[in-house]
Amino acid sequence: MRIYISVDMEGIAGVVHEDQTNPIDPRCAGEYGRFRKLMTAEANAAIEGALAGGATTVLVNDSHWLMRNLLAEELHPAAELLSGGPKTWSMMEGVDRGHDAAFCIGYHAKAGTANAILDHTYTDRILDVRLNGDSVGELGLNAALAGSYGTPVALVTGDQALAAEARALLGNGVQTVTVKTAVSRHAARSVAPSESCRIIEEAAQTVVNALKVGKRHAKPLVVSSPVRLEVDFRSTIEADLAGMAPGIVRVGARTLGFQHPEFQEVFRAFRTMFNLAAGE
Ligand SMILES: [Zn+2]
Repeated sequence: MRIYISVDMEGIAGVVHEDQTNPIDPRCAGEYGRFRKLMTAEANAAIEGALAGGATTVLVNDSHWLMRNLLAEELHPAAELLSGGPKTWSMMEGVDRGHDAAFCIGYHAKAGTANAILDHTYTDRILDVRLNGDSVGELGLNAALAGSYGTPVALVTGDQALAAEARALLGNGVQTVTVKTAVSRHAARSVAPSESCRIIEEAAQTVVNALKVGKRHAKPLVVSSPVRLEVDFRSTIEADLAGMAPGIVRVGARTLGFQHPEFQEVFRAFRTMFNLAAGE
């Protein structure tokens, strides 16, 4: 039983503001230092639960910002840590190695979601992403990439908006854990970190146990082929820059499109777009 865990930071219990998740602004160092510890604790809770449920290997991919947040010295010794970047599959790097299920821990809702802590889709430069016309966020893009390797996303943790997004996207087979309820983009009622770890561990154990006895019906998310990607950028300069990549077409002043029979190529195109959009 091989479990893959992608860990982001915005959906960790207690997190409500970017000052708590910003690894590069020295003014945030104190707050960030506290919250990366809590991020590591929730990752460990998911690992512990997965092992208790019968997981034999666990790969943890650090998926936030520069992807060097999880404290290696505090990581559960049974897991392997994939840290740093760049990584072709980004928040899902390593999922191609054959896993029975993926967990998305500390995730957040897609760009443009009301009452969702730090809603965004990979970067603040993106307003919306659509796959075959359906709006998706990080969870949707990442679940589709896992799905292209036959791996279902079986557990998703974060705020109440993310839980709703997960159920709409993945159906009833996905287990969600709501650690906080957002009342705006930067405010939430949250359970205590010790409690979030307890409920994440419990859910992880339940999910893996159910998978082991063949009871879980979380299915891999498969986007029908050919896959049509559309990305709405915040401004025209971002579309100018990202539109320079081969194969990408300008379908609107701020919107780029790309189409391919295989989702993995679409993901590469998306990744290229948001990297180019950051340049000048
Ligand atoms: Zn993040």
